Amino acid sequence: MTRISSFDDTMPCPLLLIGAGHSHLVALRNWIYNGYRVPVGSVLVSPDASAWYSGMMPGLIAERFTPAECAVELEPLCRAAGLRLVTDEAVGLRASERYLTLGSGQALHYDLLSLNVGSVPPGPRITDHSVKVVPAKPFAGFIEQWQHWQQHAPPRELTILGAGPAAFELALAFRNSLPDSAITLITGSTLLHGQPQGLIKRARGLLQQRDISLIEGMRVSAIKEKVLLCGEEPVQAADALVLATGASAPAWLAQSGLSCDQQGFVTIGNTLQSENFPNVLASGDCSSLAGAQRSGVYAVRQGSILAANIPALIQGAALQPYRPQSNALALLSTADGRALMSYGPLSAGGKLIGKWKDHLDVGFMQRHRLTS
Ligand SMILES: Cc1cc2nc3c(=O)[nH]c(=O)nc-3n(C[C@H](O)[C@H](O)[C@H](O)COP(=O)(O)OP(=O)(O)OC[C@H]3O[C@@H](n4cnc5c(N)ncnc54)[C@H](O)[C@@H]3O)c2cc1C
Repeated sequence: MTRISSFDDTMPCPLLLIGAGHSHLVALRNWIYNGYRVPVGSVLVSPDASAWYSGMMPGLIAERFTPAECAVELEPLCRAAGLRLVTDEAVGLRASERYLTLGSGQALHYDLLSLNVGSVPPGPRITDHSVKVVPAKPFAGFIEQWQHWQQHAPPRELTILGAGPAAFELALAFRNSLPDSAITLITGSTLLHGQPQGLIKRARGLLQQRDISLIEGMRVSAIKEKVLLCGEEPVQAADALVLATGASAPAWLAQSGLSCDQQGFVTIGNTLQSENFPNVLASGDCSSLAGAQRSGVYAVRQGSILAANIPALIQGAALQPYRPQSNALALLSTADGRALMSYGPLSAGGKLIGKWKDHLDVGFMQRHRLTS
């Protein structure tokens, strides 16, 4: 692993990629495949030396995959594309000065910046810290905590906040790997809100079969003396709380000078450029564009557009527009080799769909993995 301990920050990076999310992985793979080399001095910043693939995370927690199967090593990819890998994280950005600060305190100037830093699940704002709170992202910390529970002391009462696809899949997965924990899903909304009724019915049946409690219409806002509260109302006792609540924007983006929406996500146009700084691109969960949803499927599609538009910006060529698809395939693993699926109003479930999901996920990893 190459660790860069110091920079010549007087020289701007011609291209600075922040975060090894789905979009950057796809762009890197595309460049390598097509023989494109980024300009000399370009850098990728990632807190981890590997990129975790969220689609396989529930399979990892269900003990169907090993950690190594769910991650892509970044160093070989960076080397093949001509990038330097810096294992650090961005903590501040001044877009008007083209200047980015890293957690280590070092700074990088850039000509062209691409942000693909994902999102973090929001949690209750008020807490007395009596319950261990574990966000599902970043994955490295989440996996470490899960391994600790597995090997040492599983929580007696494990609650998962959220009831979207990720929360549902994680609940079933925890049931496999922490069989002695009582598991509860809590949502301010309803289970798998927005999915077809057929899929929701199957999902409810599975939760019941696997002895997972579901509490709907309760927005947990506080934690006090090991109890989760909705306003003042006690909802559930908990020893540990996993957050799978959807996406909130990394806080440092709001102070960057980049135009952001009300939730703090970077607003972009259909070339994936920032609305007010055209030398900054943003993709995946950290960006905001009408019609694009925050899911891996959309981030992957944006990766192909980045792969074309970053070289085009460097060469002064025409840019490609990104058009979000109106429907996306959803595949939800049920921790037993099977999966549920939906596409628009259609839904189905079973073993064949599980095999198909595994095939797609493992194929994605194989395409993006280069050996050292
Ligand atoms: C358990 C779970 C399962 C999911 N399953 C699916 C699924 O099956 N299908 C689907 O479509 N979506 C799924 N999602 C949603 C999906 O994870 C996200 O929508 C998707 O990962 C967004 O991709 P991205 O490219 O924006 O960034 P991500 O893939 O989230 O990656 C962001 C990267 O940026 C890095 N980073 C973060 N902050 C910084 C920083 N300050 N500096 C440098 N680097 C940083 C992170 O380490 C990470 O590597 C799931 C989510 C969860 C929690």
